[in-house]
Amino acid sequence: MSVIQVPEADAGQWRCATCDEELALRPVELEYLDSLFNVALPACPKCGMVLIPENLALGKMNQVEHLLEDK
Ligand SMILES: [Zn+2]
Repeated sequence: MSVIQVPEADAGQWRCATCDEELALRPVELEYLDSLFNVALPACPKCGMVLIPENLALGKMNQVEHLLEDK
């Protein structure tokens, strides 16, 4: 399974509020439309906290839907 890149999940602009560590992109499994996707999301290397961009949290994964349609 390929890892989906989300433009909104640019790790450079995020820090962990708890550890003050810069977040690094890592593949996270997300379930969407009854399917499992690997999406690269900013995660804290120290405590493992994963930041889910607001548009993903709201279920507006247009990026993912677009990718599915292309394949
Ligand atoms: Zn952390």
